[in-house]
Amino acid sequence: MKEERQPAAMKIAGVKGMNDILPADGALWQALERHLFGWLDAYGYRNMRMPVLELTSLFKRGIGEVTDIVEKEMFSFTDRLNGDELTMRPEFTAGIVRATVEHNLLYNGPQRVFSIGPVFRHERPQRGRYRQFHQIDVEALGFPGPDVDAELIIMAKRLWSDLGLTGVRLEINTLGASAERQAHRAALIEYFEKHHDLLDEDARRRLYANPLRILDTKNPRMQEMVDGAPRLDAYLGADSRAHFERLQQFLVDAGVAYTINPRMVRGLDYYNLTVFEWITSELGSQGTICGGGRYDGLIELFGGKPAPAIGFAIGVERLLELVRLAGRLDGTAACDVYIVHQANEPDSAARLAFRAAEALRDCGVDVITHCGGGSFKSQMKKADASGAELAIIIGDDEVTAGEVSVKALRHEAPQERVLLHNIAARIIALLPESGTNSETED
Ligand code: ATP
Ligand code: MG
Repeated sequence: MKEERQPAAMKIAGVKGMNDILPADGALWQALERHLFGWLDAYGYRNMRMPVLELTSLFKRGIGEVTDIVEKEMFSFTDRLNGDELTMRPEFTAGIVRATVEHNLLYNGPQRVFSIGPVFRHERPQRGRYRQFHQIDVEALGFPGPDVDAELIIMAKRLWSDLGLTGVRLEINTLGASAERQAHRAALIEYFEKHHDLLDEDARRRLYANPLRILDTKNPRMQEMVDGAPRLDAYLGADSRAHFERLQQFLVDAGVAYTINPRMVRGLDYYNLTVFEWITSELGSQGTICGGGRYDGLIELFGGKPAPAIGFAIGVERLLELVRLAGRLDGTAACDVYIVHQANEPDSAARLAFRAAEALRDCGVDVITHCGGGSFKSQMKKADASGAELAIIIGDDEVTAGEVSVKALRHEAPQERVLLHNIAARIIALLPESGTNSETED
């Protein structure tokens, strides 16, 4: 009887602006993550992981109501089960500070922490701008600076140079103290009122609520007017100036080049004193790969004992684009050995293959054991495509002798036979370098 053909099931696509990272790219992501963990260890930063969901009020309070993120970009919803207003984190700082206060983390003194993972913003998707993207977030909690401010900046610079990135430039600014910003704010409002006809809709709405934000505009028609606005540096007091001067001295000592951008305000409300961005011109208009700043008021604002803090976030997708261009990180996920096996007696070669593979893994060698059968020829093709250095071949002869054959895949060398119990020592001797894939670069 003829079977009736089922209609093909409809495909369901992923969500717009949210990317799948497929195995071909996953290798470079993993290489980058491994590198990052080493880099963070080198400065004593410890990992912290928070839930993706937080109460919406946390971000409203932490980031500020009148900001791009809170006004337009958050994925928020009401929990149907209990009516909670929840938001998918658009950044890490608010969650880290919440957890720090909730678990009294600063009880034993300042903390250097980091987190890595996805964050969510409802933006118009384009190159370098996605709705789910990843951040590496680094925070120094409880440190007044400016020493730790410099450490964070020096640390970022080391990351760029380790990864072989050139052309990443640093801009810094100081936002002073709250009273200084208040005085500046009043002057700004007065100035923008005078140029009311030039303000766009966003700017008019923010004029009284958050005039500083207007300086952050991306509207080219407002640029000239904004460039003429009163500058905060005219309102800075002695302490703020000293903090900024000392930071710059540390940077000069460390050979970190920078420019001062008096217009930089950054996207959060509670920044004070030091703010900075690392920018590249190699990624088109989405050129900011890292942004950070000091937020001395936030811990108290979240109900904690007042304590200063500073941090930065790196956009991993943008960083990865640069890493790919620089080509220093190895983005191939080759293992050391691929085992091909085939015998007349069912499974006798497979059983030997499994024993050989586990013996090798005991000694730190990365192994793919062929699964799913097939001819030697087709298995050897897979071995070649896997990128492995060596193939281990097991057929009837090898099964009978309790041996395996070893063949070099990347250069000419005679095939050799090795006794099963000698396999690890011999394979390690044949592999380049230490015998296993090296995980760090130069
Ligand atoms: P931008 O000015 O590009 O909108 P931002 O000020 O909103 O950036 P931050 O909140 O400082 O960005 O986030 C830190 C880093 O995260 C940015 O420097 C950037 O590298 C990255 N980033 C921000 N938004 C996105 C996005 N939608 N997609 C991919 N990466 C992003
Ligand atoms: Mg943004």
